[in-house]
Amino acid sequence: MNKEVGKFARIIIPTPLKDPLIYKVPDSLWEQIGPGMRVLIPLGKRKVTGVVLELLRETVLPETRAILDLLDERPIVDSALLQLSQWVAQYYLATLGEVFATVLPPSLRTETQRTILLKPGPVSVCEALEKRILDRLRQSKGKISVKRLTRELTGANLYGVIERLKSMGAIEIRERLPSHRSRSEKIFLETDSAPALETPSRLALHTEQEQALRKIEDRLREGGFETFLLHGVTGSGKTEVYLRAMEQARRAGRGSLILIPEISLTPQLIDRLNVRFPGRVGILHSALSGPERWAQWWRIVRSNVDVVVGARSAVFAPLANLGLIIVDEEHDPSYKQEEGLRYNGRDVAVVRGKLSACPVILGSATPAIESYQNSLEGRYRLLEMTQRVQRRPLPSIETVDLRLKSNWSQPPSEGKAPWSTRSMPARSGEHRMISDRLAGFLKKNYQAARQSLIFLNRRGFANFLQCAFCGYVLRCSYCSVTLTLHKQQKSVSCHHCNFHQPVTALCPECGNLTLLGVGVGTEQIEEALHRLLPEARIARMDRDTTSKRGAHEELIRRWEKGEIDILVGTQMITKGHDVAGVTLVGALLADLSLNLPDFRSGERTFQLLSQVAGRSGRGDEPGNVIIQTYAPDHYAIQHLIHHDYKGFFDAEINFRRALNYPPFSRLVCLRLEGPKLEQVEKKAIMLGATLREKTLHNSRFREKIEILGPAPAPIEKLRNRYRWQLLLKGKQSSSLLELAKHAQEELPRSRSLRLHVDVDPYNML
Ligand code: ADP
Ligand code: ZN
Repeated sequence: MNKEVGKFARIIIPTPLKDPLIYKVPDSLWEQIGPGMRVLIPLGKRKVTGVVLELLRETVLPETRAILDLLDERPIVDSALLQLSQWVAQYYLATLGEVFATVLPPSLRTETQRTILLKPGPVSVCEALEKRILDRLRQSKGKISVKRLTRELTGANLYGVIERLKSMGAIEIRERLPSHRSRSEKIFLETDSAPALETPSRLALHTEQEQALRKIEDRLREGGFETFLLHGVTGSGKTEVYLRAMEQARRAGRGSLILIPEISLTPQLIDRLNVRFPGRVGILHSALSGPERWAQWWRIVRSNVDVVVGARSAVFAPLANLGLIIVDEEHDPSYKQEEGLRYNGRDVAVVRGKLSACPVILGSATPAIESYQNSLEGRYRLLEMTQRVQRRPLPSIETVDLRLKSNWSQPPSEGKAPWSTRSMPARSGEHRMISDRLAGFLKKNYQAARQSLIFLNRRGFANFLQCAFCGYVLRCSYCSVTLTLHKQQKSVSCHHCNFHQPVTALCPECGNLTLLGVGVGTEQIEEALHRLLPEARIARMDRDTTSKRGAHEELIRRWEKGEIDILVGTQMITKGHDVAGVTLVGALLADLSLNLPDFRSGERTFQLLSQVAGRSGRGDEPGNVIIQTYAPDHYAIQHLIHHDYKGFFDAEINFRRALNYPPFSRLVCLRLEGPKLEQVEKKAIMLGATLREKTLHNSRFREKIEILGPAPAPIEKLRNRYRWQLLLKGKQSSSLLELAKHAQEELPRSRSLRLHVDVDPYNML
């Protein structure tokens, strides 16, 4: 092929389907343009924002279009971040466009908007679609955006028709670029001020903190990449170690990035950061509004911050001069993105550290099995903190055996109907959810004016509704799951797609008024607690009570101030809060998460329960924890009682080794989704056969890759789409990725079928 010499740039277009494209660079821009800057480029009929990946002096493409404009004076993404994006695209089998759709906030990805305007005067059209478009225009006062029209008339070949109408003189097209250098930039950048908080006198570090910090500081001083696994029990003062390390990085003139699982759950950390780095903290998370995110992003690009704190996607924060990366609660599953670009923020953080040549600290009281194994194998340096600050004791943990065969103090009884309205379903025979032992502790704790936390990882009032007469179970019309009863909202709802409808006791199958709630959720526990302690101030924290913006934070603040006696909630209450008044934690149905069809269920249970137990006894008073469970002998529960992470790790790692699960193998999950079950099933079976064939005939794959399935996903239907999956299991990710790439080539994306590739999957439901 002929090479053309000239001035070109490879441009990343931040939309999912696009690989980088080559454009001509006009002479007028050549002097200023560089990798990491945004440009305006023509794409089809639109003009869109792209990011320069690299400049080229020759290309093999015969004809290329030219860049229209340069949108930045200097790079907004540095070379390490460009490199990281390329790594992410390669490793997670995504396009660079998809990665950049995550890296760049939407407001930095402006596109031109094309609007159709109706021209006055009569026109004669004959085609139905032409007529439809003109009618639609008349309806909306002679004006509609092309985007909107495309959405409304999906499937139609609009562009040809629009062109025809234009040439007939019936319509006119106006193209406009929303101002990409918005006026508000200045306003946002100048209003950022630090809240005036009192500084805490400086803490004297305890010995284990000193030791951990010294190793991190040595690395910071010497420079270069190293991953530390900071394994510190709950309340051992990990945050203080992070803060000191960040201060050290700042003294060396470098920025720090700290990732946390969910920002709204950790207002305390933000407070502490604001005290240490007044006015120099950047915050990135999904709840920010467009303009807020945009403003934060610019502060970071311009190095107006020393520290960036954020959830998962903040791993892509455009901090130049990065000196330190911290991933708090590194075991937390929320670091894994489950939609779109399926990356793991923790793993990307480690790669970013490597590319930026800076240390990474992964911190946890219950490290992920993979991380701990990495530390044993020398890839990570293990730093341990085994004591709580000021030698406070860890809480004492005991179990209450829920099995009937154990000495339950009261036989199970038909619960009385919790409401009297006849249109509401009654409750089926569920035994009492709060054991006498736990009830006794709760009363005592309340009388002593101390706070209690009740954990149940299931929201709603009843888990599902079942007809007592015919056995019918109410299910979601769009997903293969049951609907959950929410009594306060008087509705049943699907926790996967949000479908909801009013609740009634009427069975749709047999027509009797005999639907009963089965299984217990946080809402019911809240009621039970009110009955147990009518005077107590009780609050609930789950997705239902925190959907409003700021609701999380408000609850946590009240909890911190001691304005709530008993807080009941889902896993939201297990994370990071440091509230001195909490001396009792109760975990109901503690083994709920043990029963998931997932090889990580033991690990997940141990982590969740250790985290929630760790909220107890962080102040002057020692803490207690009551674990109610049907599986008191399970090794996850047994090691939990003894605060024995290593014992748990040893048991778990043996199980992983025996079944060849990570960290002894790598996994890639291939999921096919489509609206027609037969088609999804057929394609999944075909794909399975093709991939098996490939492994047989390719020595790179043979005996190295195990293919499990295809089989329906545990949740076979989700949002009206059927799902089948294949699991690839092997020693090396490189051959797994290669095979997964074959699968992508076999099944090009289409409307009726989509293949999702999930590398290092967490959720295989
Ligand atoms: P972790 O993150 O390990 O659970 P935190 O960092 O939240 O623990 O620390 C728990 C509490 O102990 C916090 O209130 C913190 O201010 C306090 N703390 C941390 N280090 C010390 C120390 N060296 N001396 C006294 N208190 C400390
Ligand atoms: Zn649903």
